[in-house]
Order: sequence, then C-alpha cells, then structure tokens
Amino acid sequence: MENIAGREGSFFEVDLSLLKENFKKLQKIAPKKKIIFMVKANAYGHGAIPVVEYCVTELGIREFGVATIGEGLELRYNLEDLEFEIYLFSEFDLKNKKHIERVLDKRLIPVISNFNDLKLFIENPQFKYFPLFLKFNTGMNRLGISSEECDEVVKYLKANDRTEIFHLCSHFACSSQSYKNKSNQRQNETFKNIKAKFESDGLKILNSSLSNSGAIEQNLGMEETHIRPGLMLYGPSSLIDSIRNTSPWKGKIISVLKAQVLKKTQMKKGDPVGYGATPLPCSGTLLIIALGYGDGFSTLYQSVELSCGEAIGKVAGRVNMDMAQIIFPEGSTNLPEVGEIFNVWDHNPESLYRISSQRGTITYELFCEIGQRVPRVYKKS
Ligand SMILES: *Cc1c(COP(=O)(O)O)cnc(C)c1O
Repeated sequence: MENIAGREGSFFEVDLSLLKENFKKLQKIAPKKKIIFMVKANAYGHGAIPVVEYCVTELGIREFGVATIGEGLELRYNLEDLEFEIYLFSEFDLKNKKHIERVLDKRLIPVISNFNDLKLFIENPQFKYFPLFLKFNTGMNRLGISSEECDEVVKYLKANDRTEIFHLCSHFACSSQSYKNKSNQRQNETFKNIKAKFESDGLKILNSSLSNSGAIEQNLGMEETHIRPGLMLYGPSSLIDSIRNTSPWKGKIISVLKAQVLKKTQMKKGDPVGYGATPLPCSGTLLIIALGYGDGFSTLYQSVELSCGEAIGKVAGRVNMDMAQIIFPEGSTNLPEVGEIFNVWDHNPESLYRISSQRGTITYELFCEIGQRVPRVYKKS
C-alpha cells in the first residue's frame, strides 16, 4: 500500500518474530497461565491490527484487552475471520443504545467496574447470555467496584440468578515497585478476600486475573488463571530503574525507531543549531535526522544521549516539528551517511531505558507517543 500521508525514510520497524520470542520467554516464567494480552492504544503504538493478527495466527493468543469501543471495533472490522475475545476495560456507557448495540453485535465484552454498570448489565435482558466480567478496586482507586461493596454485589448477583462470574479481576497500582511494597501486598490480599467471599457464597468464578507486567516480573498475584501483560511482551521490563536488575525478564524490544539522515556535517563547539540557535556542546559530526515532534519525537528529547554502535551522541538544540539534530563528538566512527538510517533505539532494552530515564518518562510513553506520520513496518524474521 502506498504511504500517502506519512514519511518515507523514517519508520517504526516492528519485528514480530521478537514478539514470539518474548511470548515464549513469558510462558517460561509464567507456565500454564492463560494470557489476556493488552493491546490498547494501538498495541502500545505498535499497530493493533498486525499485532493481534500475528498473536492469533502464530502464537495462539485468543484474549485481548483494549480500552475503548473504537479500539475493539478496529480489530473486529479488520480481523473478521479470526476468532478471539476482546475485553473492553474502560470506556463504554451501558445506557447508550449505540454502545450496547456495538458491544453485543461485535462481542466486545465490557469489564464491569462499578455497581451502576453492573445493574445496567444484569437488568438488560440482552446481556442475559453475555459473559460477566467484573473488576474490583482493591486500592488503586481508579476504576473498579469498591471492595466494600463486595457483600452487596454478591447478594445482588444471587438475587438475580447470576451465579457464574466469567472473569474476576483487579489491577495493581504499584507493581513497577517492589512486590514487598505494602500497597502491593494489601491489594493482593484484598483480591484474595473478595474471591473467597464470592466462592464461599456459592458464586462460581471461571477465570480471574490480577497481574500486569510488573507483577508478573515479580511473581505477584500469580495464583489466578490468567495474567494480563502489556509492556513486557513489547520488550521492556516494567520495573523502575532501581530494582530492574531483580527482574528475571529478559525481553527484547520488538521495535526499532528508525530515522533517515538528511544531512551530515562537521561542526565546531559553540556553533549554533536549530531554532533558538543553541550552541553545540562539543565539536564533531552533526546529523540532521528526519524525526521531530510532529512524529512524536518530543522536544523533551533535547540533550538526551543516543547511541550509534560504539559512539554516543546527544540531541543538540531544540527538536523541531520535522527534524532533530544529533551531535557526535570528534572521533566517533561508523556513523550513518546521508540517506542512511539512524536507530533512535534498537532491540537492546538498555537503549530504551537510557532514553526513558534521561527524558524523565517511562518506556510506555516512548512507544505510545510515536505519531501517525511514522509508518509502521513489519517483519517476521
Ligand atoms: C494496561 C493494563 C494492563 C497491562 O499493563 P502493563 O503494565 O503494560 O503490563 C493490565 N491490566 C489492565 C487493566 C490494564 O489497563
């Protein structure tokens, strides 16, 4: 297909065979667990359609989590022939006829996260045979039925002859911090109590899940039937810098952000570059790359170090809409020529961690911010 609104030379390359490698590694550290793969936000920027297609056809993953109805519809419209479940984690309105119609027609299973929605769901005969997926708030205080409402929920379900819960889940607030963290321990315990309450009152829980990437990496909440990884399958560890080395997770980044070199010049320390005429911090080789904030290559990349083989350069001056400048100190070798490609990051997670820590952000955001102008290109080798 012709790329009619995007870039030509710079692109976001996704190697799906590395997704397979990561999946195999995940199965090793979480044996026998069923997986709900989180593919919200366009599969964390990687392209939800090709990612889900690959997961269903090549990896046998059949359950996916999205945030919005639109994300669910995009998958259904484009992958009509494939069989898989879609769970809708946050944005839907069970009073809205159009939402209800789409949810039913396209089988987007809503994750019920408050008592009101539970009533709308149970009291609507159209949902009589639809799976009941419940999410409890165990301490994050975002979405989720309050754990204090547990008794009432149980009573309500029994009164309405709903004795089977398709899936019961909750979500950790601090799983990227140590599992020993009080909040992690408390949430884990609260969830176990909710589950026990359901079961002791005769409600059958068919499936349950608690662990996102950080929790999986720390073997936290892993007593459930399912896990819900997102980030780790795209490569990075979810743990904060200071405890990352405790993680058994050795994923490879499945993507490389590739920028075409537009110009390569020798410059002197103090020479002005770009908007604002920022003086260069050192003499050396200046690369102008075809990525800017119009591509999601944020102005916050200014002064961030980027490597190229052995050489370490620095984003020099302001990032502009279409381009950015990188200065490599004198003596740097094997730099790309004009027309060739510079890798902002590569499959080695360290290249991504350096950027996220120097930018003061998280790897999640580095993926999600990549703009629409950057074509996603897929390979499977
Ligand atoms: C995004 C999300 C996940 C996955 O989180 P990661 O940290 O990317 O593994 C799991 N569960 C829910 C409810 C989510 O919204």
